[in-house]
Amino acid sequence: MKIRRIKTGLVRIKENQISKTKGLTPQMLKVLFGKKWAEWVPIYAWVIEHPEGIIVVDTGETAKTAEHGYLPKWHPYYALSVQFRVKPEEEIGPQLQKLGINPAKDVKKVILTHMHTDHAGGLGHFPNSEILIEKGEYRTASGISGKLAGYLPHRWPEWLKPNLITLINEPYFNFTQSLAVTADRKVIIVATPGHSANHISVIAEINGIHYFLAGDTSYTQENLINFRPDGIGTDESINTLKNIVSFSKVNPTIYLPSHDPLVPQRMTNMETIPSINDGIIAPLEKVK
Ligand SMILES: [Zn+2]
Repeated sequence: MKIRRIKTGLVRIKENQISKTKGLTPQMLKVLFGKKWAEWVPIYAWVIEHPEGIIVVDTGETAKTAEHGYLPKWHPYYALSVQFRVKPEEEIGPQLQKLGINPAKDVKKVILTHMHTDHAGGLGHFPNSEILIEKGEYRTASGISGKLAGYLPHRWPEWLKPNLITLINEPYFNFTQSLAVTADRKVIIVATPGHSANHISVIAEINGIHYFLAGDTSYTQENLINFRPDGIGTDESINTLKNIVSFSKVNPTIYLPSHDPLVPQRMTNMETIPSINDGIIAPLEKVK
């Protein structure tokens, strides 16, 4: 089994979205009206080459985001708080072709960690794959209420008929709900609610190393190990971050969220999530 990283362009959001801040003002107002943009960061998608077939996790963003009218500028979030830079050749389809993988033929399954546009934007490249989406996430993202919540259901491919999955009460280490994707259970979906209420992550285990394809559980590993939730998620975020860190204490884990610029470095150096005992993270009581 092998894991490849595909960078489908760049995104820029407000600093107040990356980390939740203190105070009484609702965080969404700070995300919308905060003046400080964060740095441009990558949008990653993942390819797992498993003996049962190729599995893609998240599909990145589309170059169409640059076309006038593609993003709903009536929506305050798109008007004020997010910008994309994706070239056509950076979409996941052309990049897979370059690797010798035909996205329309060779990809068995596509799993979405959640349906935000920078994860679902490349769906159109996979008309013949089984598309796995968590049932509650699909419901949240659909229709008018989905649009109001910032999803782009009207941009999904017309042919989209996802396999709506529900995680089962089968523990995978400290994750109480999971769903095996492959018969050997080396590729597993776990529930990581927070960034969105039904957000999922995919763990792929290769030779004892757990590659944690984390979607947007946090934007950076730094925020993970400091249990710092993002600015738009639910109250469950902190529990999810704690769960991932607990998991990493018993399983060497390389944390691969979708937008962390340090992801390539961690993959190259096989850097696992540091443990508090390593002295790298401040003890919990010191973390504010
Ligand atoms: Zn997201």
